[in-house]
Amino acid sequence: MNVHAQKPAALIGDLALALASGAVEVIDLTHTLDPDFPVIVLPPEFGQCARFRMEEISAYDHRGPAWKWHNFTCCEHTGTHFDAPSHWISGRDVPNGSVDEIPAERFIGPVCVIDCSAGAKANEDFELTPQIIEAWEAEHGRIPAESWVLMRTDWSKRRGAEYLNMREDGAHSPGPTPETVKLLVDGRGIRGFGTETVGTDAGQGAHYTPPYPAHFFLHGAGRYGLQCLNNLDRLPPTGAMLIATPLKIRNGTGSPLRVIALVPSKDAQ
Ligand code: MN
Repeated sequence: MNVHAQKPAALIGDLALALASGAVEVIDLTHTLDPDFPVIVLPPEFGQCARFRMEEISAYDHRGPAWKWHNFTCCEHTGTHFDAPSHWISGRDVPNGSVDEIPAERFIGPVCVIDCSAGAKANEDFELTPQIIEAWEAEHGRIPAESWVLMRTDWSKRRGAEYLNMREDGAHSPGPTPETVKLLVDGRGIRGFGTETVGTDAGQGAHYTPPYPAHFFLHGAGRYGLQCLNNLDRLPPTGAMLIATPLKIRNGTGSPLRVIALVPSKDAQ
């Protein structure tokens, strides 16, 4: 469909009807927040990210006879979560760099999914390279400006210690090279980059120049990150819409969130 040929009112109305009829499907890209979900572990000299914790206030009992509710605590970067530019030193002075300042229109956009699942299965330190991006574009077309680019690795299917995959020399998990992030940010003007792993960078991302290139280049350019994504194997390479709206935490550097994608239903195609 050529969006430029259709009036916005008709476009939104048609989308709403397509959602109601099931012709457009909603895919949940979010893991369940619970105390067992792994969080990133930094070397011991650094401060650490807190896991999700929940305490019962009442459960239809003497503490509240007709209601049940909880207090919860966690790090901004726990579970499926959003990284804002202010998360990284390169983005500390970016305008609108914290989650409460990001304009709402930035939370909804087109999404490209690069399937790296075979490579990540063969090599847990698999690198997303510019050559892989260019091969993907030869098949699916150029990555549009303001797209989310998601790196599918099927890492979300891992459980327990396999997820962080820590060894004596740190975590081992796939991620993009510095050249790849530069290409996506400067060459394609992407809005953000998302992964199934605990960070947008590879487990061994400290060893690149600069260290943690996804964090450094994305946030320095005012772009965003998504981590601990789920169900990326249910997304088409192109043609889906991503909705990722972090909590409006004042000066927040990130936030757990519900990430969803709108995709054409297979039944309706
Ligand atoms: Mn994060």
